[in-house]
Amino acid sequence: MDENNINSRSLGDIYRMIYQNKECSRQEISRQLGISLPTVTQNLNKLRNLGFIYNAGNFESTGGRKPTILRCVPDARYALGIDITRNHLSIVLIDLDLNIIADKRIRIPYDETDEYFHSIRIETEEIIQNHIADRSKLLGAGISMPVIIGSDQKSVTYATVIEASPDIYHKLTAHIDVPILLFNDSNSAGLAESWRAHYTQPMVYLSLSSSVGGANMNNQNIYTGDNWRGCEFGHMTIVPHGKRCYCGRYGCLDAYCSSNVLSDFTGGDLKKFFAELPHNKGLQNVFDQYMNHLAIAVNTLRMCYDCNIVLGGYVGAYMTEYIDTFRKKAVALNPFEQDGSFIRVCHYRTEASAVGAAIHFINQFIQEF
Ligand SMILES: [Zn+2]
Repeated sequence: MDENNINSRSLGDIYRMIYQNKECSRQEISRQLGISLPTVTQNLNKLRNLGFIYNAGNFESTGGRKPTILRCVPDARYALGIDITRNHLSIVLIDLDLNIIADKRIRIPYDETDEYFHSIRIETEEIIQNHIADRSKLLGAGISMPVIIGSDQKSVTYATVIEASPDIYHKLTAHIDVPILLFNDSNSAGLAESWRAHYTQPMVYLSLSSSVGGANMNNQNIYTGDNWRGCEFGHMTIVPHGKRCYCGRYGCLDAYCSSNVLSDFTGGDLKKFFAELPHNKGLQNVFDQYMNHLAIAVNTLRMCYDCNIVLGGYVGAYMTEYIDTFRKKAVALNPFEQDGSFIRVCHYRTEASAVGAAIHFINQFIQEF
């Protein structure tokens, strides 16, 4: 390997180390990466000149001169996440620190018409133009949808919740002026959650939105399965010959634990359901039944994966207050454990899928630096 190659590899390694540690000193970099101090300094100057790192004051001295704190410049790059659901469009813009710089959620029913795609273009362009002075800093846009995606992340292999056509990628590409990739909504939400919570252990994300899905993250990577249908938890049969599911079968988890099961009692308004829950006996019975079914699913997942289970999606966002009750229900089914602390509540409330789709581009940028 010639000098240039060694140098460019060092540049990437140094940048990744600062990114992963949030901050570090020149001396730490040299020590940990085994690169001489002059070479580190040369690379740091280059990174600083390119606008990727900055000096953020000084560490406390451990004897001698105080080492300079090096940090990554968060707004050196951006990524967009667009979450498309049956009735809404959510757009987020994040920076390298995964800060949400801008977000927007509008009610617009999914419909593959020129008008619909035009709205996506207008909304996306507005965010780009208001927040990014230099468009070359935008890495791409991840599009999250409630569909099953092919391994190329450009094709749709199964779509029932929304009627996405197989060539939706090309239709979107024609209207969004940045590189795009498609994501399953639950997978991208799981990705966002595991990055946000810094999970390095395996975790399962159970998405309880207007449809039920999930993701299994392993050291922040998504498990896809052979057919990219891994973790379609919504279609686990939990009640033999039970309620009809939108997939056409009976007794699927989705039929018992989608957010609609609750919001149907308050005119489609989930927020209202949880607002009225404390003083409405009828809703309490509904929610109790809901949690009983959810406990079966969570116990099954714990038996399969033996890892943390994060309750996410629209319902997950409201579970904090009820988590103790729910943990009791779930561990009552568990022959090995009495402690339900492996059941967690999600960090993100609504924008997880969009953020996760955007994170893909940030991750790729860091890895390929
Ligand atoms: Zn089903």
